[in-house]
Amino acid sequence: MKKVAFYTLGCKLNYSETSTISRMFEEKGYRKVDFIDTPDIYIINTCSVTENADKKCKKIVKEAKKISPDSYVAIIGCYAQLKPQEISEIAGVDAVLGAAEKFRLIELLDGFVKPAQPQVLASEIQEAKRFNHAYSLHDRTRTFLKVQDGCNYGCAFCTIPLARGKSRSDSIEEILRGAQSIGETGVKEVVLTGVNIGDFGIQDGKRVERFADLVEALDQVEGIERFRISSIEPNLLTNEIIDYVARSKRFVPHFHIPLQSGSNTILRRMGRRYLRELYADRVARIKRQMPDCCIGVDVIVGFPGETEELFLETYQFLNELDISYLHVFTYSERANTRAAEMEEVVPLAVRHERSKALRGLSEKKRRYFYEQQLNKTFTVLFEEEVQEGRMFGFTENYVRVSAKYDPVLVNELKVLTLDSIEADGTVSVREPEHIIL
Ligand code: SF4
Repeated sequence: MKKVAFYTLGCKLNYSETSTISRMFEEKGYRKVDFIDTPDIYIINTCSVTENADKKCKKIVKEAKKISPDSYVAIIGCYAQLKPQEISEIAGVDAVLGAAEKFRLIELLDGFVKPAQPQVLASEIQEAKRFNHAYSLHDRTRTFLKVQDGCNYGCAFCTIPLARGKSRSDSIEEILRGAQSIGETGVKEVVLTGVNIGDFGIQDGKRVERFADLVEALDQVEGIERFRISSIEPNLLTNEIIDYVARSKRFVPHFHIPLQSGSNTILRRMGRRYLRELYADRVARIKRQMPDCCIGVDVIVGFPGETEELFLETYQFLNELDISYLHVFTYSERANTRAAEMEEVVPLAVRHERSKALRGLSEKKRRYFYEQQLNKTFTVLFEEEVQEGRMFGFTENYVRVSAKYDPVLVNELKVLTLDSIEADGTVSVREPEHIIL
């Protein structure tokens, strides 16, 4: 029985795809092992957004060859689609597969016999038209379920459309089937994942379904306690979706909405499809309908043309907005994007300073949001991990909770009152009314 190990870089989508590919190997009789366990085959799933993707890829291959010198090494993922030739020249790589090929790798690399020359199987990205189902199953608590892939937008900084292709989706029928079988494994929470999930519903190039209908259909799935929407573009987060989540049984009050900049000048330069007024309107509607809803924001600092004044516009906008935390990205140039050709480049040191300022703001926002939730009662989903006698979980509105370890609570939902913010930033809980855990 051949042993196979996996390494994943990047986003939740990549993790769900690695997880699915690993199950395909297991179905074919391969044994999945850890990276260190001298596997016969390594599959490395790469990312194009990760900083220094090339260096990281080289390093992982080098480590793999140290552990298992005769192993077969295959590289897949976004970076493999963007730079197949370059990757095939890394010493130790046996095969590089593109977006259209990665789910067929067992069939394409028949038997994993080492070739004399590295094989490059990466078609043009226009060929990646098929939707491949994927979901992660790494722990019992939470699963990332891929519902959509690719993107038809063309934001100036982004390589994802080049690496993953056009927008395409699974059908609602298939997703419901997938969610039901995930529920049967005992998983309590499903996070809907995709590149641009608000654009859900395109099959074979035609729009046939809508994200709002998917939300409504999933809300009826008995076996899953919670659904979380991973991230949705503000212009696609309609009133219908917000209002439905507000009265939903299973969709939790948590949205992650990419803003990228709080300056309309920069939003236009980025080619985003909304202005800050629309974003503020979305946040206001969410908070009106769900006052305790958690709202996370993606923001990029140091985009070309972001003057001090425009950065301060972003800072002020976020400071005044009723949001709960930020994911801050420091802009870095990516080959073959429009932004990489733009003038008025922001010096690296300035980008880092701005990133630091927004990370500080994020901490302030998160703390304020947590303080607003204290003494309120929520349902906590506890996870398996235990650290120094404490266990952790999230409320439906994404407050990170810690409590004294109790094996009975692992992967269980429990109604608790938020008590106080601990030194590590988590929130301790008590039984509703009195007992402190
Ligand atoms: S919406 Fe923009 S940032 Fe998001 S994947 Fe599409 S092109 Fe990239």
